[in-house]
Amino acid sequence: MTKKNTVRQQVLAANWKMYKTLGEARDFALKLLPLLKENSAQVIICPPATLLNELQKQFSGSVVAIGAQNIHWEDEGAYTGEISALQAADAGAAYCLAGHSERRRYFGETGPVVALKAAAALKAGLIPVVCVGESLQERENGLALTLLHDDIQASLKDIEPTTRLMIAYEPVWAIGTGRVATPQDAEDAIAHIRASLAEIWGNAAQKVSILYGGSVKPDNIGALLACPNIDGALVGGASLSAASFAAIVNAAG
Ligand code: PEP
Repeated sequence: MTKKNTVRQQVLAANWKMYKTLGEARDFALKLLPLLKENSAQVIICPPATLLNELQKQFSGSVVAIGAQNIHWEDEGAYTGEISALQAADAGAAYCLAGHSERRRYFGETGPVVALKAAAALKAGLIPVVCVGESLQERENGLALTLLHDDIQASLKDIEPTTRLMIAYEPVWAIGTGRVATPQDAEDAIAHIRASLAEIWGNAAQKVSILYGGSVKPDNIGALLACPNIDGALVGGASLSAASFAAIVNAAG
């Protein structure tokens, strides 16, 4: 592994998925803040939309920013059950996930839809975290790198180079399975994503933070963060406990 870069922001982001009530979220906030040690990483929590506003209040003035898990690409309209980027921002979000594998799998999101969502997020002043990752079958068939290349280009189509966007590499086979990618496999995939991004964004690709996601825990985050291209982590299960998420955040430099 080569020396860690200092150009990109380190980011530790929590994805709470469809977990936690208002009371549980308040309790989490009270427990997390005293556990965080000072470091230069950006900390983000992406709760269910019902908790955006309350968590923004709970974490106001702290190092923790709030993100939405999903947005619609239109500004407003007859889209029952959806929220717009503007509504997410209005409720306190500064970030939003776009194209998480569970959105792709259960809600049919594809690269072009993710690109629309990323564009809508940027327009509303949110920083999108665009998620890409291959399935186990795609990896076993030797298709992972081709898929990542094509998906990154489809998911960022017509998006101008910007540092107000991040990418999360989340191999589907590692999400919620306890099976983490080896640091070398994650590093290789993320370096490949960066090279694929450079084909459309040129040198700006060097300034984009790219996170790893998939069964990140306090005991494996250190080796992942030591890799030169891995700028942080998107954490599901282990972000639901304040103690384990704090341990993951505190591993950053
Ligand atoms: C995720 O939901 O983005 C994720 C990476 O989940 P987990 O950490 O539980 O694998």
